[in-house]
Amino acid sequence: MKTFANFLKKHKIKLIAAAVIAAVVAIIPFVFKPESQSQNYNNYSMDLSYNEQTHILSGVEEVEYFNSSQNAFSSIYFHLYPNAFRQGSNSPVVSSNNFDKAFPNGESYGGIDILKVSDQSAAPLNFSVVGEDQNILQIDLADELYPDESVKISIEFETTLPNAHHRFGYGESVVNLGNFYPIACVYEDGKGFSTQAYHSNGDPFYSDISCYLVNFSCSSDFIVASSGEEKNRQTSGQTTTYSYQGDKIRDFCIVLSQKFEKASSQVGGTTINYYGYQGDQNLQAMADFAGRCVESYNDMFGLYPYSTLNVVKSNFVHGGMEYPGIVLISDSVGDEDFQYVIAHEIAHQWWYGVVGTNQYDHAWVDEGLAEYSTYLFFENNQEFGLNYSSMISNALTNYKFFVQIYQQINGEVDTSMDRPLDQFGTEPEYVQCVYTKGVLLFDSLRQSVGQRKFLKALKDLYQDYAYQNISPAQLIASFSSSTGRNLEGFIKGWIDGEVVIA
Ligand SMILES: [Zn+2]
Repeated sequence: MKTFANFLKKHKIKLIAAAVIAAVVAIIPFVFKPESQSQNYNNYSMDLSYNEQTHILSGVEEVEYFNSSQNAFSSIYFHLYPNAFRQGSNSPVVSSNNFDKAFPNGESYGGIDILKVSDQSAAPLNFSVVGEDQNILQIDLADELYPDESVKISIEFETTLPNAHHRFGYGESVVNLGNFYPIACVYEDGKGFSTQAYHSNGDPFYSDISCYLVNFSCSSDFIVASSGEEKNRQTSGQTTTYSYQGDKIRDFCIVLSQKFEKASSQVGGTTINYYGYQGDQNLQAMADFAGRCVESYNDMFGLYPYSTLNVVKSNFVHGGMEYPGIVLISDSVGDEDFQYVIAHEIAHQWWYGVVGTNQYDHAWVDEGLAEYSTYLFFENNQEFGLNYSSMISNALTNYKFFVQIYQQINGEVDTSMDRPLDQFGTEPEYVQCVYTKGVLLFDSLRQSVGQRKFLKALKDLYQDYAYQNISPAQLIASFSSSTGRNLEGFIKGWIDGEVVIA
């Protein structure tokens, strides 16, 4: 309702109250909430135990792996993202200018060891660690896995955390368990398994919607936040075991700290928890702010489909990081930007979480949508003091400055957006082409098709592609269909770097 009221005010349309109510009822008969589909998902069950003395996480992961492709598989593949943190890895986990911030106590290493892989009858399966940077677990199946069939396998592993302010690592205040377990590689018909190695640019991850049951044990003095919903907790001696369930989420993240203190807010059926540090004065204010974000995005795009959303303050080198049902906000983010980062990371629950994308090859899709959604949030919630026109104008200034500087230094500048992460020469180039240009693209699109059709296109995209991964071509087709305009030339001009922004 807030969105609609602002829209009317902005366009100076004067209607009597009754007509407004009638129009709202006619135009917005219901708010979309993604529901179950017939598709089969991978099911993960994990038993995990974290030792805070050794910083080692021991785990047994049972996966019911479903072959939703058109091809038979003799081997299946899993990402081993922690191996990017091992000594001697090829790809740095942060850019050189962020190294000291990520490793405040000096370089530190981690990784994942696969101890055993077995099938349903506990018979060992052949496995090997492969990939260009020891980043992939290949499991050879005892029998061919045909389309629409599933196989149950068990993987025993041990993950070692680096001392790092990263999404995977432990700092002085918080332990971040992001991308810590073997997760199935996405298979695309015609392309095969997606097995890209880690990259310091962006979020080098790509996964399918799955279902999770997770038991996580750690010392009882930790406060734990995670993806999914807490179903049970049991304390035995000094150890507490938490049981979580996450239905139809694309990853599972756990964050723990002895310093956490929690405040909560409620939006519809969703509880929003904010975990700050003990003694923070803004706990309830941040929980309420995060609730406002959920409320706004619910109105604009369709309902957040889960019962819990955790927003956690953390030791993290970048501003924030999104996982399903949980987002990390760096404790190094200043008060002036803290809410902005919360709004951006929460927007990812819609764009990345429910509507997924290959974040390695097409980062602009989820980052552009999440960043532009943040602009929409502040446009619709002006009490937080950010002005939409000024934000766009600043984005334009930053982008033009980037183009000018790169032209001066290199004689040319590549402004194409749809590149794999390793094809961006520098981190600033990645940020300007993906985030800033992403915002300018969606603002330009909105001006071209009009506010009403643009917002409808976002709603349609959320509804039509919930629990899937979308390609840029699908995004273009969806926007074209929703707006009744062929937008292929328009959007491609932007993402291919042909549009000159003057
Ligand atoms: Zn983002």
